[in-house]
Amino acid sequence: GEGSQGCRRVLLKLSGEALMGDQSHGIKPEVLDYLAGEIRAVTAAGVETGLVVGAGNIFRGMAGSASGMDRSTADNMGMLATVINALALHDALERHGVAARVLSALAMPTVCEPFSRQKAFHHLAKGRVVIFAAGTGNPYFTTDTAAMLRALEIRADLVCKATRVDGVYDQDPLRNPNAVRFDHLSFQEVLSRQLKVMDSAAISLAMDNAMPIMVFDMMVAGNMRQAVSGKQVGTLIS
Ligand code: UDP
Repeated sequence: GEGSQGCRRVLLKLSGEALMGDQSHGIKPEVLDYLAGEIRAVTAAGVETGLVVGAGNIFRGMAGSASGMDRSTADNMGMLATVINALALHDALERHGVAARVLSALAMPTVCEPFSRQKAFHHLAKGRVVIFAAGTGNPYFTTDTAAMLRALEIRADLVCKATRVDGVYDQDPLRNPNAVRFDHLSFQEVLSRQLKVMDSAAISLAMDNAMPIMVFDMMVAGNMRQAVSGKQVGTLIS
C-alpha cells in the first residue's frame, strides 16, 4: 500500500525528455547510466519494478499532426520512438547488472517480446525490471496513460512519476518564483485545477482505481529509492 509501509511493486514513469539531459533531443549516455544506478537501488531493495518510458526526446504525435501529418500515423511513430528509449534503458540496466526485459504493446518479436500480462508477472517474479514499450499500443493515448494502465494491470502499489522538478506546483516553478508546491493533492484537485502532472485520462484512471502517484525530482540521487520505501520525496497524489 501507499504511505510509510513502502511498496512491493512499483511502476516508474520516465518521460522521454528525462533521457536527453541538457541536450535538445536524443539520449544522453550519462543520464542512462545515472538512471540505471537509481533503478538498481530500487530493485536491490527487493521492490518489483515496471518501467514506462515516453518519447518526447524523439517524437511526439501531437507535433507531427500539428505539422499536417495524420494523427494516428504520427502517434504510431511516437509509439515506435518509445521502443528506441526502452531498448536504450534495457541496455543500460543490463550493463549495470540489473536483469530487465522489454515488453512491447506493438508486436515486434525480433526486437523484444510482445506485451502480455502473464509475461510481465513472470519476469517480475524473477526479479527482472519490466520495461513496457510502445505505450498502450493505441493512438490518441499518452505514455502517462500507458503507465497507469500497466500499473493497474500488474497491481502496482504506487506509480512514481519522475520529473525534473521536486513535485507539483500551483503554477510553473521554472517561470514563476512564487509558485507554491503541494505536499499532497487529491485526484479531483489535480483535475479541477488542471495541474500539469499527467494527462487527464491518466489521472481519471488513477482516481477510478485509487492508484496513488508520487511526483518527484529524479535528478536527486536516492529519491527513487526513498519514494518506493514510502518516504515523501515530492508530491503525493491519492
Ligand atoms: N503514444 C501513443 N499511444 C500511447 C502512448 C504514446 O500514440 O499509448 C505516442 C504519442 O504520439 C505520444 C508519443 O507516443 O506523443 C510519445 O509519448 P509521450 O508523449 O507520452 O512521451 P513523453 O511525454 O512521456 O516523453
